[in-house]
Amino acid sequence: MINPARWSLALGATFALSVGMLAPALVAGDAVAAPAAATSVVSAPSVSTSAPSGWNARAAAVVRKLGLDRSPARVALERALHPGDYDCAPTELDRYIASLLKPMTPDDMDFLLTGGAMDIVTADAIFFGSDTDPRYALPAGYRTKLTHTFRDAKRFWDVKSSDIELHAMHGSMLTDRPRVERVLMRVFGFDREWAAEYAEFVTRVVATTPVFRHGNNPLFTLNAFAFTPEGKDPKLFAGVQDKLIFGDGMLDAFSALGMTDVAPRAVLAHEFGHHVQFEDNLFDSPLTGAEATRRTELMADAMGTYFLTHSRGLSLNTRRVLEAEKSFYEVGDCAFDDPNHHGTPHQRLRASTWGARLAMSAQKQGHILPSLRVARLFDNALPAIVAPDAS
Ligand SMILES: [Zn+2]
Repeated sequence: MINPARWSLALGATFALSVGMLAPALVAGDAVAAPAAATSVVSAPSVSTSAPSGWNARAAAVVRKLGLDRSPARVALERALHPGDYDCAPTELDRYIASLLKPMTPDDMDFLLTGGAMDIVTADAIFFGSDTDPRYALPAGYRTKLTHTFRDAKRFWDVKSSDIELHAMHGSMLTDRPRVERVLMRVFGFDREWAAEYAEFVTRVVATTPVFRHGNNPLFTLNAFAFTPEGKDPKLFAGVQDKLIFGDGMLDAFSALGMTDVAPRAVLAHEFGHHVQFEDNLFDSPLTGAEATRRTELMADAMGTYFLTHSRGLSLNTRRVLEAEKSFYEVGDCAFDDPNHHGTPHQRLRASTWGARLAMSAQKQGHILPSLRVARLFDNALPAIVAPDAS
């Protein structure tokens, strides 16, 4: 949540090298099957010669205004670029992401990182998506589970949530020229001529570069997030409402990792926790920077688990939830290993365990605690939750 995304990245020979270094992990009989990726002989044309001048700076400014986390895919790409900056052992999610990157040429990766495709999809979902538009429908395999969980979370928490929408984002919009053009004008502020030209470039590259699979490469949409226009530029976000968005790529990753049962609902419960925080103004605290982010992330884990395990929430078996969350936090460790810190897997599990215990004690009294009370109790417990791991 919340921290501005970094953008510009220098691409060059080091990139090809470091991606090469990921390869052994892939061939060593890994459990994660890559979706059948076409070997790309047709490579994406260069962004630098096709993008309007000042494109990167403008895109960076837009991403800052959206105020979103970098997606796990972007973090993984950066790890591939600068492996020395991270001391986190590769997880199954990294191997999955590496398997998607492996068939890409440096030009393909350059397009992915600097062409703005991920941000165009994200901005399209935020600005134009809705839960009644079939172009943003959740994938059939997850639809019932996610919409039911969402409905139950709305009933469970005492915040105003009737106006929050849940929907998907599909990378296939990247082959739809009018839609890409619309995003470039409305969100990125390009005039019609530039927007038309760049939309032509993006849609052509995505449609004709085999490795991008007509936008269905999970890397374009490997993210799920809560969004609110509250506290952001009112002119830019006029008419945009609160949302909870699931990218196809995130759900593809769950499928590939065999985590289709509890993990998607846990992600939804966590993201809904951020909406509770938006409504209750819980982002203000004496903490700053990474510590402030860690507090709100761990609180979202605690709130999510409180809801998942509470008898008046989803009433899921506590042990099953905590086991699923433990594996989820472990695979996500590297994906979130950056200054915009979600907490270590150990801390996240402690926050979740705390939420589950609170649900158990609340059940004895037969009621759901007010969200502000949950937050206050959590803040009291936070020092113990983040106490050093080595104990
Ligand atoms: Zn979060």
